[in-house]
Amino acid sequence: MKRVVSGIKPSGDLTLGNYLGAMKRWAENQHKDGYENFFFVANLHAITVKQDAGQLKKRTYDIIAWLLTVGVDPNRSVIFIQSMIPAHSEICWILNNFVTMGELGKMTQFKDKSAKAGREGQLAGLFDYPVLMAGDVLLYDADEIPVGIDQVQHVELSRVIAQRFNNAYGETFKLPKAVLSEKTSKIMSLNDPFKKMSKSGTEDSYIALDENPEKIIKKFKRAVTDSDSIIRFGEDKPAISNLLTILSEFTEKSVDDLVREYEGIGYGQFKKDTGEIVAEKLSGLQQKYTEIRSDEDRLKNIIKEGNSNATTLANEKVSIIKDKLGLI
Ligand code: AMP
Repeated sequence: MKRVVSGIKPSGDLTLGNYLGAMKRWAENQHKDGYENFFFVANLHAITVKQDAGQLKKRTYDIIAWLLTVGVDPNRSVIFIQSMIPAHSEICWILNNFVTMGELGKMTQFKDKSAKAGREGQLAGLFDYPVLMAGDVLLYDADEIPVGIDQVQHVELSRVIAQRFNNAYGETFKLPKAVLSEKTSKIMSLNDPFKKMSKSGTEDSYIALDENPEKIIKKFKRAVTDSDSIIRFGEDKPAISNLLTILSEFTEKSVDDLVREYEGIGYGQFKKDTGEIVAEKLSGLQQKYTEIRSDEDRLKNIIKEGNSNATTLANEKVSIIKDKLGLI
């Protein structure tokens, strides 16, 4: 049996990138034989950036409701909230002593943020967040971590930390592997195909999962395109390739079929069709979401059960680690 662990931060609007790169993949993964799935709301990660308390709480439930909406099933997966399992914070502190400042300073995400806003003023939590992430997956002996390409480096660091602990104290942790979904590992911004679609981008650059249909259609109409007017997939066509990936995900047609279908058709029509199809499919999901989100008692029960399953495993692991370290 292989165990899959992955999380999502409640730090802003959920985007089409979160859906296609993570949540949709998680739902699909539940139907593969031989897998146990653990999905969580990474709210401790969210506070590396200042959050409004009320919003953070609301978004935590929103994410659980979205996971259920896209087909993550509490009977097939363990769904839990990171902050409700103290073992996550505990293991982070312990693992901090198995990683160097040098290793953390090399993380691209930290370097990017420091380059923009300076290193000195960065919060220690932001610097340390890959260690919390290592703990998130090592606690559960995860085999596979389905992630977007931006997280691969952090999974690699988790392996380094795990190996270092194992070398010092004997076999304790499994070494997790990052698993990328080739097509959707990076859904790009609609107005800059060299940037990842992200909730921290400008309004026009991303589609939020709860966006209204007119706005979705408008944003796709405005999406940037590439030179020439041929609808084709390739490195030299980053904007059109991104739109083809999105359309393919929403139509269940292959990119090759779509390219054939759009031969001789201009960008305008292609973007209009893509916007309309995404809007239609998302509005179906939104209706389902509204119903699921309205039953907060059910959401709380699902969280309670998931937390309880996760806590059992996490506490077992922490107790093994503490014993090895001589912590009583
Ligand atoms: P985050 O919003 O950073 O918590 O990300 C949650 C998950 O969504 C992670 O697995 C990310 O890699 C994935 N993700 C976020 N944005 C994108 C994107 N634009 N394309 C593909 N995956 C994404």
